Amino acid sequence: MSEQFSSSRRHFIKGAGLIGGASLLSSSRAFSNGNTGLKTAKNLIFLVADGMGVGSLALANHWKLRHHAEPLEWVQLLENNNVQRSLQDTASASSPVTDSAAAGSAWGSGERVNNGSINYSVKGDALVPLMQYAKQAGKSTGLVSTCRITHATPASFAANVIDRDLEATIADQYLEREVDLLLGGGLEYFITKGRNLCSEFKRRGYSFVTDKAGLSNLSDSQRILGLFANSHLPYAIDRKNDPTFAQIPSLANMFKAALHPLSENDNGFILQVEAGRIDHAGHANDPAAILQELLEFDNCIPIALEFLKSNPDTLVVVTTDHGTGGCQLNGVGESYNGSGSALDRINNFRGSFESIERIYQKTGKFSRAHFNSICDLDITNDQQSVIVEKMLAGSDYMTSVIADAIASELYEETGVGWTSHAHTSEHVELAAVGVGAEHFPKLMKNYELNGIVRNTLRI
Ligand SMILES: [Zn+2]
Repeated sequence: MSEQFSSSRRHFIKGAGLIGGASLLSSSRAFSNGNTGLKTAKNLIFLVADGMGVGSLALANHWKLRHHAEPLEWVQLLENNNVQRSLQDTASASSPVTDSAAAGSAWGSGERVNNGSINYSVKGDALVPLMQYAKQAGKSTGLVSTCRITHATPASFAANVIDRDLEATIADQYLEREVDLLLGGGLEYFITKGRNLCSEFKRRGYSFVTDKAGLSNLSDSQRILGLFANSHLPYAIDRKNDPTFAQIPSLANMFKAALHPLSENDNGFILQVEAGRIDHAGHANDPAAILQELLEFDNCIPIALEFLKSNPDTLVVVTTDHGTGGCQLNGVGESYNGSGSALDRINNFRGSFESIERIYQKTGKFSRAHFNSICDLDITNDQQSVIVEKMLAGSDYMTSVIADAIASELYEETGVGWTSHAHTSEHVELAAVGVGAEHFPKLMKNYELNGIVRNTLRI
């Protein structure tokens, strides 16, 4: 064992011990450095559907069954005998309902932390994130997201910040810690007043791209910074319907582009791929946006399985960090016979609630005609007044205001109902396939994943 390796081990134990190793907060399956007799995985592909509760998975599955006569890739994966399925308890140190920072940190560091903080223990000590161990083992590291790449879930594998909103600090840490590949949104945190971090990445040998063509033209780049929007990428449904977004890559485009450079490293890699906006569509209670986000995420599963076929020394994990919004397709009509056709009516939506908000931000006006063209619902004068009043009061996200103003019509039209605009405490799905998959227990606490992954990759 190298000195570097053993010092990282000490650091790990120290971090875990600070809050009482065997407590509810940290992993009982902590890393063991002895010869465990396990097969070693060289690569980790970690696919995260952020904010995907069981209700939204079922909704998307029924939609795909009705429109493509086959289940979701995720469901097909579960039908495979080689897959280990687990349910995760997602609580954080500070609440039964986690946020993405705490949930990601549980995976990233092996400890439960307070909501809002990234890889800092409840006592305020920095914990070593997974990608630092990977680096020490000579592996390449990559983060891909439809959110700002400095958002909580990608950051949880590579960064340490007391407050998840310190996104400029997270961008700095990506540079200092040399995360090899970063693809997503969030340009605003890389080009700030007085500093152009993109130039610094370029000086360190990174290729820098800002659109789909640039991404597909990269040939031999080992290190890539790809930032395709100032903030989050637009929703999949808006990329599909708005030609001004034609040059923004899909999650699958980015995932594919990431695999080639990372797999050039003989020591292997860790890659996290996040569909980060399933969560946002859940917060917004937007049925059409959440469906298209889920379908886009689902397209990534066969890409991972294809890679696994030609690189069997890989562990693939497909999971989510928590539910959001309590999305459910409900029984509609006599004997619930109307649920299928209600679900089909989601197809009539031409954009997300966010696309309506975008017009409002641009023009300062709420356009009823535009709303009707997007949502396939005739909004009443009263509903329009409520939306405009609330927006003028400036107290809320427009997307939530829209969903609340038309909640009963949306429910009648689509059969989709929600419990809140917040995260939920439900147990969530995890599927693991490849080397080490068998070590995932049927029911697990989110932080246990860290030890299983580190054991399997020997990092
Ligand atoms: Zn959220």
